[in-house]
Amino acid sequence: MGLPYTEIRAVIDTLTKSIKKSKDLELSTAAINLQTIISQLMSENDNLKHENKRLKDQLADARQDHFDRSNLVKYKGIWVADEQTRKKIQLEDCEISDDLLTKMYCPKCLVDKDKLVSLNDFENSDGFYVECPVCRYDSLIIEYI
Ligand SMILES: [Zn+2]
Repeated sequence: MGLPYTEIRAVIDTLTKSIKKSKDLELSTAAINLQTIISQLMSENDNLKHENKRLKDQLADARQDHFDRSNLVKYKGIWVADEQTRKKIQLEDCEISDDLLTKMYCPKCLVDKDKLVSLNDFENSDGFYVECPVCRYDSLIIEYI
């Protein structure tokens, strides 16, 4: 819920006009100072809102990362998001979908850089491989017979 900025501005404008009509110099100066302070508060409030959103996003990412790590399981030398994903991978017989690849992580980057890096795929005559886009680690996941 945001502050009603336009309403606040309208009230201040009305107030300022009345004060100017009264031709009271002290009141006019006070009104101008008040306008300046309110503008600064509004701008500060905007900055805080943006900062708050950024921190919330960051926290959500960190939670997601933690969630992913706590459920990780190994499959053919690589890390997989969870048991359910591993079962789906085991059922594939010639290739792995992009959806599943995003839940498969490089074991080397997890150890070396503490990062969950999703794997890419490539195929050759041996079979279907996954490859890390960062460190180029690869692993044969489905062997073609
Ligand atoms: Zn890697």
